[in-house]
Amino acid sequence: MRLILLGPPGAGKGTQAQILSDRYETDKISTGDILRDAVGKKTPLGLKAKEYMDSGRLVPDDLVVELVRERLGTDSCRKGYILDGFPRSMLQAESLEKILKQRGELIDRVLFFEIGDDELIRRLSGRRSCEGCKRVYHIEFNPPVKDGKCDSCNGNLIQRSDDRKETVKARLKVYREETEPLIAYYNTNGLISRIDGLGKIEEITKRVDREVSRADDDYPEVRSGD
Ligand code: AMP
Repeated sequence: MRLILLGPPGAGKGTQAQILSDRYETDKISTGDILRDAVGKKTPLGLKAKEYMDSGRLVPDDLVVELVRERLGTDSCRKGYILDGFPRSMLQAESLEKILKQRGELIDRVLFFEIGDDELIRRLSGRRSCEGCKRVYHIEFNPPVKDGKCDSCNGNLIQRSDDRKETVKARLKVYREETEPLIAYYNTNGLISRIDGLGKIEEITKRVDREVSRADDDYPEVRSGD
């Protein structure tokens, strides 16, 4: 199974990517997590990415495309993968098409999570993630059992620096300008499934499941770029 999860920051892509990855034992490629890890470790990629991420802008396409290309080449992606937060610009989408063509692979579905700005801001301000395993929580909607501690690895839960209000606004603007055009792009391929992103996590998972299970039966296979 090869999926793309598309939608604004805070729409629930990361949460659903984690659930799908656990359930189908499929590798999850979250470019945001990989970049944050690189920033934390101060690798050359992290040093370049930091200022873009801190201000809510997109990290340059060439850096992100290379990162994804490398990751797709690893063994863990042989059976399938879930792309969470990539592609995020037209150039990234076109680069992905070329990579897929070289690999002779198809994307099965693009899940587009729809949700309004007010709800996004509410979600992002309450979002916390584990320093260790990156699991995502919400202080109100999806709290951990023990305050401030991750249920699965007992790591510390922290707020992302780019979840502050000013940066959130910048990220939403970038989303509208750079990422939203991808909906029309994938729609012409017939690959988009719209998922109502409002509701409880389990309800949204059910909607995701419905679309993912339909992917095999109801939709024609579309080879990106053909
Ligand atoms: P996320 O965790 O997906 O919300 O990503 C956090 C930040 O990482 C974004 O605001 C961008 O600065 C950067 N980022 C993540 N994915 C991408 C991508 N595909 N292209 C460019 N920048 C990205």
